Amino acid sequence: MIKLKNLSAYYEQNPQKKVLQDVSLFIEKGDIVSVLGPNGSGKSTLLSLIAGITVPGLITIKSSSIILDGKNADSYKRKSLSQKVSLLAQHEQYSWPFSVFDAVLMGRYAHSSWIEPYSKKDIESAEYQLEELNITHLRNRSIFELSGGEYQRVMIARALAQSTEILLLDEPFTHLDINSQHSLLTLIKKIAQQKNSTVLMSLHDINAAPLFSNKTILLREGNLVCCGDTSLIFSGDYLSKAYDTEFGFFKHPYYNVMQSYITSAV
Ligand code: ADP
Ligand code: MG
Repeated sequence: MIKLKNLSAYYEQNPQKKVLQDVSLFIEKGDIVSVLGPNGSGKSTLLSLIAGITVPGLITIKSSSIILDGKNADSYKRKSLSQKVSLLAQHEQYSWPFSVFDAVLMGRYAHSSWIEPYSKKDIESAEYQLEELNITHLRNRSIFELSGGEYQRVMIARALAQSTEILLLDEPFTHLDINSQHSLLTLIKKIAQQKNSTVLMSLHDINAAPLFSNKTILLREGNLVCCGDTSLIFSGDYLSKAYDTEFGFFKHPYYNVMQSYITSAV
């Protein structure tokens, strides 16, 4: 469903430094994928390119291709691409104090037409996402008056309201406490499985990957270290290669997965 062939990109001010270098991989429909790698390894760039977002100054090398459902991503019209892929970007900020409901409704923009900006179905869908994310009580609150966890729930509701087969989440839980992170990941996994959606999420917390994703993409300095079953990646020395750090692995006491911990430098 998502196929990357030799995806390479650089920023125009520094053409020598490829921020992604010959990344080739294949993601199947229904996969829940963790995108891991140290800061600056290219996770956000990768997700933006798959979403077809124009990043100022970022240039994709011509021989690169991104294939979505067998069709080159370049050949999708903007609107049909946004009906297929939604992205929750890492540093997204609003400049206007929209209400929570309006912010979620904006996710329906991909399905609106100029004749009828938002239909009854769009409004129902936004209401449904508020309920699903447990934020109906915040409906009329300004998005500037939310806690970090509430705000992220709103952003996830907006991305889900877009109702796409592919959901891209760029470090959606970085500022959340472990409890909120865990409950949101559980919810996203449940929704993705119900809808058979494909999810790619870059994660700061490596330990969340084996709990929530069946596949993992590991990046280092723009290069793909590996892409494969999360269980495989959490049993080899791939993480150490990517992060330049020694990792220890142990079996999770409640889940049948391997967890990692970072050994301290000696
Ligand atoms: P990650 O999300 O893994 O932290 P990014 O995709 O944000 O990594 O960045 C990959 C590389 O691109 C980094 O080396 C970063 O410094 C560089 N980069 C990101 N944004 C810009 C920009 N606007 N201009 C120049 N270089 C950038
Ligand atoms: Mg990033």
